[in-house]
Amino acid sequence: KCTLCGACFEVCKFEAILFEKPETEKKDLSAYKGVWVFCEQKKGIIQSVAYELLGEGRKLADKLNTYLGGVLFGENIKEKAKNLISRGADKVYLADSPLLKDFLDETYTKVLIDLATKYKPEIILAGATTIGRSFIPKVAVKLQTGLTADCTALGIDSKGNLMQTRPAFGGNIMATILCKNSRPQMATVRHKVMKESCITEGRKGEIILEDIPESYSRRDTQVIKVVQELTSTINLTEADIIVSGGGGLQKKENFKIIEDLAKVLGAAVGASRTAVDKGWISYSHQVGQTGKTVCPKLYIAVGISGAIQHLVGMQSSEKILAVNKDPNAPIFKAADYGLLGDLFKIVPALTEEFKNLKIN
Ligand code: FAD
Repeated sequence: KCTLCGACFEVCKFEAILFEKPETEKKDLSAYKGVWVFCEQKKGIIQSVAYELLGEGRKLADKLNTYLGGVLFGENIKEKAKNLISRGADKVYLADSPLLKDFLDETYTKVLIDLATKYKPEIILAGATTIGRSFIPKVAVKLQTGLTADCTALGIDSKGNLMQTRPAFGGNIMATILCKNSRPQMATVRHKVMKESCITEGRKGEIILEDIPESYSRRDTQVIKVVQELTSTINLTEADIIVSGGGGLQKKENFKIIEDLAKVLGAAVGASRTAVDKGWISYSHQVGQTGKTVCPKLYIAVGISGAIQHLVGMQSSEKILAVNKDPNAPIFKAADYGLLGDLFKIVPALTEEFKNLKIN
């Protein structure tokens, strides 16, 4: 069961254990310059997480007195590269090819490795999205560097290292991780925890067009069809208002009262893990540590206890309203407003009231 963690070697006072680590080639860290942001696009539309990372990346680049680079992969997206400059990038590394039209981790991995090897950025940031989570770890392994996944805060320490902060041990502590001996320093960052950079019209920057080797068309996997999840509801991570239901709803059919309230408010429907685990609603609605991080203007938590794993996904919402019958439920500590009582009475009454407000 040895995982080669080395802990036994450090504590053995008899020096009975020999633990030889393979010598790794020392990198010249000073050769690495620039903060890069991998800017995700879907169907040619730059995803908002890219603008959030450009905002944060700008701050880091200014602190390090270096440039901010946007990395954009796709097909016929040259025009979009200009958006990244107006959002704060000094340079955009653009790979424009039919091979990069749809995300395929095999090709995206190869192209990002090629770019990072050629230009040697000191930092690479990407969204902790399905795409980022899928291929960024592969890039880190190939570049023989560290990666901190799911960061919620970034900074620069006195020696110029990237401070990568993320929740650890079920969200009970925040761990700040450094990658001191290797470059680039790589982190994926949760969506919606950082503010989007503003648009500066007329901002100037450089677009560097990269060629893709023809051999990259020979792939082990092919995209046959992109199937969109059909949903008439509003996207959770983009919503201004979210109504979320939890274990207090007791059964699947009762989720309708959450949907009714969401409908009248033009809100998205969220859920705690309990609701998802019980099969009352699909996983794409789960908010929290193992679900989505959201930051709406108003988050309404109905029959949700407020476990730390749920709170980490919604506590940066502008206003939180909790509906719960237990006065000691932890959700009330995170909430700006609380309604203490039976959700089966309160929620339909709210829906009715908002309906009347709308009509009048
Ligand atoms: P419960 O704990 O069952 O709470 C139900 C609440 O409803 C209670 O507060 C109760 O007072 C209230 N209630 C009951 N009946 C009524 C009523 N009639 N009227 C009003 N109030 C009522 N959880 C997440 O949500 N998201 C995650 O991403 C997530 N990730 C996790 C990752 C790990 C590694 C682990 C270990 C756990 C994770 N969890 C996550 C689970 C989390 O710890 C909690 O178990 C979960 O959030 C509890 O969901 P709940 O509050 O909806 O349900």
